[in-house]
Amino acid sequence: MPSISPNTGSTTSLAAALLRREVLDLHAYHVPESSGYIKLDAMENPYLLPPALRSEIADAVAAAAINRYPDPGAASLKEAIRAVTGLPDGMEILLGNGSDELIQLLALAVNKPGAVLLSVEPSFVMYKMIATFTGMRYVGVPLIINSGTNNPGSANSDSANSDPADFSLDLSATLAAIKREQPALVFLAYPNNPTGNLFSAGAVAQIVQSAPGLVVLDEAYYAFASDSFIPHLARYPNLLVMRTFSKLGMAGLRLGFLAGSAAWLGELEKLRLPYNVGVLPQIVAVKLLEHHDVLLQQAEQIKQDRAKLYQQLSEIAAVKVYASEANFLMFCVAEATAVFEGLKQRGVLIKNLNGGHPMLKDCLRVTVGTPQENMKFITALQETLSHPHRIQSA
Ligand SMILES: *Cc1c(COP(=O)(O)O)cnc(C)c1O
Repeated sequence: MPSISPNTGSTTSLAAALLRREVLDLHAYHVPESSGYIKLDAMENPYLLPPALRSEIADAVAAAAINRYPDPGAASLKEAIRAVTGLPDGMEILLGNGSDELIQLLALAVNKPGAVLLSVEPSFVMYKMIATFTGMRYVGVPLIINSGTNNPGSANSDSANSDPADFSLDLSATLAAIKREQPALVFLAYPNNPTGNLFSAGAVAQIVQSAPGLVVLDEAYYAFASDSFIPHLARYPNLLVMRTFSKLGMAGLRLGFLAGSAAWLGELEKLRLPYNVGVLPQIVAVKLLEHHDVLLQQAEQIKQDRAKLYQQLSEIAAVKVYASEANFLMFCVAEATAVFEGLKQRGVLIKNLNGGHPMLKDCLRVTVGTPQENMKFITALQETLSHPHRIQSA
């Protein structure tokens, strides 16, 4: 262990001496500069709120007591969430400053020496990142990928065979890993990010039943999906469901929640920093949830546009697109990074998944935008694919 001598060493050597190995080895979560682009990279809702609702919010904000600390229990907000979520009797809510904060809180709660956080791969990158920086051991079980299908053109053929869909849960491998690793925490994104598919509910239920620790179903994309485990919460004593309002149109507010039994949430509540959800997010979210129908209507529009975008992508021979129950589509091409750059040159920012995980080689993820944004994306993609040389020379 090098000694710490702040007066002589550079910041770099002090950092090397002071910081945990896991922190030094981490790469910060990269958020690219997006101003001026058609922004289809971060699963945001592309729609503004109706003017009447905006002025209602403005009035509520104008009257807010921002000189005071927020209501630590956020009673009104929890009430509003209960009203739109349909929680089973006896189930409670724990609020987070975004659901990312809740992943961290869960990890902090269970990270005894050697404790394992298990998830599947490829999935949401924060599970591994938070496991790493909280000092948990991370185990990732690969999803199923049918060999040789990661080629453009092959996904859209009608599959009459019985192969499981790409990126399905590998149930036997996952159950074996759970038995072997005895994870304190299992995270499953339902639907999954970045692949967009919804895992089989039966397989998820088996995982919940065989896990020795907590299983958290991350329903960040619930508003765009055909299923949820919220109605089944009371059936499984080790199940928690996590949701965020980010993808529904409140990404700027930073608001997520865990739903589960009062017994679990009472323990976890001890780790929540007292004022983690500010006065303004509480007030604005209550107003928005009073008009939940507006947000659901926007989600409905996004689902319809997702189907259209899927259809358009599947008609491009050089593209392999995956079915999605979220507000984005994953697709793969021959050279994802060149396509990503070509789109960017044409003013469209999406997410390049290439290099993020070996199973995502040459894959990209596009958020469903407004019909006009989607059209511009498709046009830019077609241009990019038909002018590969212009991509390289720029
Ligand atoms: C976006 C996302 C989150 C994080 O949402 P925030 O509430 O904005 O922190 C969590 N899980 C998954 C799977 C996501 O895609």
